[in-house]
Amino acid sequence: MTIEKLIELQKVTFKEGNTRSFHNRKSVLKQLKKLITNHEKELCDAVNDDFGKPYIESYITEIYTLLEEVDYHLKNVSAWMKPASVSGPIVTFPSKNKIYKHPKGTVLIIGAWNYPIHLTLMPLIGAISAGNTVVLKPSELAPATSSLLKKLFDKYFKPEIISVVEGGVEESTQLLKQPFDHIFFTGSTRVGKIVMKAAAEQLIPVTLELGGKSPAIVHHDANIGVSANRIWWGKTINAGQTCVAPDYVFVHESIEESFISVSKKVLSSFYENDYQTGKNYTKIVNDSHFIRLYNLLKNSIILHGGNTNNETRFIEPSLIKAEWNDEIMQEEIFGPLLPLITYKNEHDLKEKLLSKSSPLALYIFTESNEFQEFIIRNIPFGGGCVNDTISHLGNHNLPFGGTGHSGFGSYHGKYSFDIFSREQGILKKPSWPDPDVRYPPYNDTKLNWFKRIFTK
Ligand code: NAD
Repeated sequence: MTIEKLIELQKVTFKEGNTRSFHNRKSVLKQLKKLITNHEKELCDAVNDDFGKPYIESYITEIYTLLEEVDYHLKNVSAWMKPASVSGPIVTFPSKNKIYKHPKGTVLIIGAWNYPIHLTLMPLIGAISAGNTVVLKPSELAPATSSLLKKLFDKYFKPEIISVVEGGVEESTQLLKQPFDHIFFTGSTRVGKIVMKAAAEQLIPVTLELGGKSPAIVHHDANIGVSANRIWWGKTINAGQTCVAPDYVFVHESIEESFISVSKKVLSSFYENDYQTGKNYTKIVNDSHFIRLYNLLKNSIILHGGNTNNETRFIEPSLIKAEWNDEIMQEEIFGPLLPLITYKNEHDLKEKLLSKSSPLALYIFTESNEFQEFIIRNIPFGGGCVNDTISHLGNHNLPFGGTGHSGFGSYHGKYSFDIFSREQGILKKPSWPDPDVRYPPYNDTKLNWFKRIFTK
């Protein structure tokens, strides 16, 4: 079937209205849960084929998170679907005021390669629970996962409800010309701009989940052992190929030496000098990303690590001494290299952070409430943690998304349902009373009445 025919078919199906019922939403969510649980191993193996991700990492970040999200939607979708009653001002009295949530229609979800199942299916859960029909475009850079997703969705779903379109730039470009009712994109800021331009042509609403340089700040009062453990965990999971990985560590100058020495111990304990077997650590996705990271490493001052293997595409987790203007500090690293830079005081820190575009995440390591609040209130970023990395994604009650160059629109939990729903405000009025104060012909008596009743 051509892409045009597929979208036409999905649009006709949506207009027939069956995807809107609670029964249908629930059964599609359950079918998705079945697909994931029945094929958990195959799915994790496909990610392993694509870039050598250890099974336990895939299970936790790709499978468990999705199952948890599906269950949450199954439990709550009936309440979320109901029109919400809101109060109204005296000028609308007597009336009932309701907010209806309608599905948007036929939506497109474009995924990134680095969590190739999670990033495609996590938004899908919201799209289904909101009652839409969906086209999924997984990343071509994880080909084994993309082709497995295609095979499984063809088996478990009718194409008019959910369909996978495989491919790269050519297929995405063709998809972006179709009259979708929403586009949800996860990927780079560069491609995000292309998506938004294409969507603007047809005034299609978009959600952009992009990347950026997410800092981890370690203040002088932080627990350095715990900070190093949690920063390196966030940096090494998926070999740093995580949108919310700490990109660089910004350490108070008084604790620089301790952070370096504790980091060395942490890395030795994580990998026991054996990061290359793939048992505990992922490789770099392809040669071009490997070469990009290798070149960054080659031009850096390495404090720890620095080994690479171009045949297996493993790069040792590496701590790098950096300055603000170094090459490694210009673009999102998306790999296991952690530049360390220092700050003198809060003013210095704020000035430097504000000079970069707003990151997707930011992590603050400190025991001081005052310092936490200073950062949270003064620096724009998508979301983050205090004394941890990445785990804010594990709470479906928290909105997940970026700001500025790291994107816009948030999802997870109810936020996902909302993003794929169209809100409609309805005021319901009885036919009686029908005072003529608002109708022409206007006169002073009517104005005085109006002022006396409604103006405070
Ligand atoms: P990418 O932008 O290269 O590709 C993302 C998707 O866009 C893929 O499906 C790809 O096929 C498609 N695409 C590529 N070029 C296109 C074009 N010209 N027109 C239309 N579509 C096109 O990103 P990537 O390399 O897959 O992922 C890495 C980036 O994604 C990083 O910047 C990372 O921070 C970001 N990311 C963000 C999140 C998030 O949730 N915010 C999650 C994961 C990754």
